[in-house]
Amino acid sequence: MLMARKSVRAVFPGSFDPITNGHLDVIERGIKLFDELIIAVGKSPIKNQLFTPEERVEMIDEIIRQRQMQGVSVESFEGLTVEYAAKKKADVILRGLRSLTDVHYEFQLAMTNRAVAGIETVFVMTSEQYGFTSSTLIREIASLGGDLSNLIPENVYNRLKQRLKK
Ligand code: ADP
Repeated sequence: MLMARKSVRAVFPGSFDPITNGHLDVIERGIKLFDELIIAVGKSPIKNQLFTPEERVEMIDEIIRQRQMQGVSVESFEGLTVEYAAKKKADVILRGLRSLTDVHYEFQLAMTNRAVAGIETVFVMTSEQYGFTSSTLIREIASLGGDLSNLIPENVYNRLKQRLKK
């Protein structure tokens, strides 16, 4: 019997301050797995915020349009990820894994989200070349004037240079 395949919608939540090639690697892998992918920029106050949530959304939107990513959208959200995911009628949460260190925290987070909201988390492992890339490190390297052209998309690099000139 032929059954219609259910369309799967995923939410990829994060701070994305700023979005890196590591995040984009996860997004590219997510596109292959899901019909719809919503990149969700968390508005929760984080330490050392470099870009406002609006700026982060703007940069991600530029990338989605430049690369013509089908079925991908971006927006910001406030409050609990699971509540946001429920509101968007998402089937799964997507998260990326860089290393075993990530697993500890992500495991806890995924277990908690499943316990409180019954939502599953799907993990994809990033390409080895981005295993060490983090937004925190990007912010640090940028403040010291390092070359980040291999680790972040061009539009983010340009904005970063502008921001740090001020
Ligand atoms: P959060 O503050 O919620 O951790 P991040 O923006 O730092 O938000 O990360 C969002 C998601 O992307 C997390 O699942 C994180 O593990 C993953 N991630 C971050 N950097 C990378 C990378 N270089 N490769 C793969 N996944 C990554």
